[in-house]
Amino acid sequence: MKKLFVIVMVVVLSLTAAYADVKSDRLFQAALLQSLMLGEYDGFVSAGGLKTYGDTGIGTFQSVNGELIMLDGVIYRALWDGSVEVVPDSETIPFANVTFFDSDIKQENINAESSQELKNLMTKIAAKHGKNQFYMAKVTGLMPRITVRSELPQKEPYKPLNDALKTDQREFTYENIHGTVVALYCPDYMDGLNTPGWHLHFISQDGKKGGHVLELAAKDCLLEMDVISEFAMIVPDRQSFNDKNLSINMKEAIQQVEGK
Ligand SMILES: [Zn+2]
Repeated sequence: MKKLFVIVMVVVLSLTAAYADVKSDRLFQAALLQSLMLGEYDGFVSAGGLKTYGDTGIGTFQSVNGELIMLDGVIYRALWDGSVEVVPDSETIPFANVTFFDSDIKQENINAESSQELKNLMTKIAAKHGKNQFYMAKVTGLMPRITVRSELPQKEPYKPLNDALKTDQREFTYENIHGTVVALYCPDYMDGLNTPGWHLHFISQDGKKGGHVLELAAKDCLLEMDVISEFAMIVPDRQSFNDKNLSINMKEAIQQVEGK
């Protein structure tokens, strides 16, 4: 009897241990935010290909032609004129982060008066689990107010993103709109490959409005978070990418682009 108990305990312990090699949850990243910042705007992953790496995420398109929002396996493009379309699988992507979303953490009645308040709230909830994990979050419900941006497609020779956005960014403010904020959290050690903290995109419930979130208010929303412990990245193998100096500090330029 004692022997059986020991065997059962060993089985239970090995099932509950979080072995990384059996965990399927992975954040996939195409290129570096830093290479995008320096003008690597040519797509190298297809929209169809991206769907094999996840069903939820954020990014941009060939020539920075709009903001990418992926939700429930559908890839939306929020364009510079405020319209949104579902992209075909042949569309190409120069930068994105996606994952197959699991709702590991759930919290109802999320209220925030500003995007910073929402970020602080999500950071607090994420930090309870651990600040050094990756998180993909969905905030779904009513946004009393939201300001999103997109941008005009860029022509070669490509300017750095912070310069391009100075003239080519377009902003849209909506009131009392239902939808989902798709948000990515990168831990501090991702400085250099991406940007630490939260990055928010939005898609309306009817799929007709969206973009990169600059400011918002959220009312009685549902927050779901996916805790992610694995990170995978691919980079384009081409001259323009291989010639870029990716060791320079781009913190300030990234903050400009993020709208901080
Ligand atoms: Zn964005």
